[in-house]
Amino acid sequence: MQSLEEYTSKAKNIDFCTECWIDGRFVPSRSGETFSNINPATGKKLCDVAKGNSSDINAAVKAARTAFEDGRWSGKTPSERKEVILNLAKLIRENVTEMALLDTLDMGKPISETVNVDVPGSAFFFQWHAEAADKIYDEIAPTGGRDIAMIRRSPLGVVGAVVPWNFPLDMATWKLAPALVTGNSVVLKPAEQSPLSALRLAVLAKEAGLPDGVLNVVPGFGEDAGQALGRHMDVDCLVFTGSTAVGKLFQKYAGESNMKQVWLETGGKSPNIIFPDADLEKAADMAAFGIFFNQGEVCSANSRLLVHSSIKDEMVGKLRERAEKIKQGNPLDPATTMGAMVDVNHAKKVEEFLNVGKAEAKLITGGDRFSINDSDAFIQPTIFADVPEGATIARYEIFGPVLAIQTFDTEDEAIEMANKSVYGLAASVWTSDLARAMDLSDKLHVGTVSVNTVDALSAMTPFGGMKQSGFGRDLSIHSFDKYTALKTIWVKY
Ligand code: NDP
Repeated sequence: MQSLEEYTSKAKNIDFCTECWIDGRFVPSRSGETFSNINPATGKKLCDVAKGNSSDINAAVKAARTAFEDGRWSGKTPSERKEVILNLAKLIRENVTEMALLDTLDMGKPISETVNVDVPGSAFFFQWHAEAADKIYDEIAPTGGRDIAMIRRSPLGVVGAVVPWNFPLDMATWKLAPALVTGNSVVLKPAEQSPLSALRLAVLAKEAGLPDGVLNVVPGFGEDAGQALGRHMDVDCLVFTGSTAVGKLFQKYAGESNMKQVWLETGGKSPNIIFPDADLEKAADMAAFGIFFNQGEVCSANSRLLVHSSIKDEMVGKLRERAEKIKQGNPLDPATTMGAMVDVNHAKKVEEFLNVGKAEAKLITGGDRFSINDSDAFIQPTIFADVPEGATIARYEIFGPVLAIQTFDTEDEAIEMANKSVYGLAASVWTSDLARAMDLSDKLHVGTVSVNTVDALSAMTPFGGMKQSGFGRDLSIHSFDKYTALKTIWVKY
């Protein structure tokens, strides 16, 4: 890690990439319009960014389609594609400070996290998917006779990716790595709050050897650029991470256009269930991490703590202690452990939930929005206890550092409470009873159950949800399913 002074000085000297990246070069938006990109931790403008709209999306899709059809990337062997994506992983590692600064400046998260988690994570995810490229075999069906029925994986063509701001580089990576490795061309629309790392990534990808037109990045607003991608007649597949409301729109866009495949990773209200036989110190450490990491702006954040009534007071005390130790401040300071919300609008939205929470539950700690320097985008780590069943703060995805604590008495009650949600992304269970852990894991309607940890995740395991948390899986070999079609080629001889 470097010092606050070093990061501040480096941040001042970054030459931001601000235009649309189409067909291997930067171009202004066709309308000439731009939008202000604000640093939420200071409230000050970082730069003006091209405001891409449907014309820019059209140009990007055209470039992607041409690249796909002429085989400059789709026609390469898996081993050749592997080498290029491995180069990209290497370049991301070589540029770790700059990439980390871009995400920290754009969305307000601590530099210690972007340097140690987000950027190394992105490099590793690219590397992992690249290494898998030439290790997946096609199949031959057991037809018998003088027949060979091959089942091959084909790339889909042009993939549209619309990603959020909470992990700007990583969310783009989760889509790009498997899409590119399997030979597709991509048009990526980053969130309006955080376009900078995606634009810089495109330059690194070219440097790594990715041919022009294979990766295009169009910054802009969801209603224009995002919608244009969702409705485009020449996009074969749309992958999305973001809110459930916008996820539903992408299904509508597809239904009203070319019926493109749509894969969604949307919201969550993940329960964290703690039984008295668990290691309570560790459970408290991880429960605090599970809700306060990344300012609580995590789709799988453990925002509901379901604790056995016999240990409720003890756990509330432990959680409070941990919340009050969090160091909020300048995200460029390596000592900061919680930064700003992504923007003031989002901070105000979280504040509204805090006010609702104060009326419907018992405030244990935090509870306010506040300012640091000139920015009003900071929220205190907040804990509510005695949250009644059906309370707003126990049902809605707040997407901030706000924990709702509820109690249960029996295992069945815990399962019922955990499953009583429109979401089904993740859940955690803390117990030393393995049979109980496995029983609960079977009964929880979620994509990932973490036992004696929270938010377990790796490149090797699929990540995604059930119910209104979406469908389709990011990460792991299974992520390739979203970006390939199974093709049967039947030969008689
Ligand atoms: P959105 O779902 O609105 O944004 C995610 C992406 O979708 C962005 O690139 C956005 O573009 C784009 N988008 C927005 N509206 C449209 C549209 N009409 N058509 C096509 N694309 C669109 O999330 P927000 O940023 O507004 O956050 C709102 C809430 O969503 C949060 O409070 C949280 O609850 C949830 N969320 C969940 C995330 C997750 O990881 N599952 C991540 C982020 C948010 P633009 O930025 O220009 O609006």
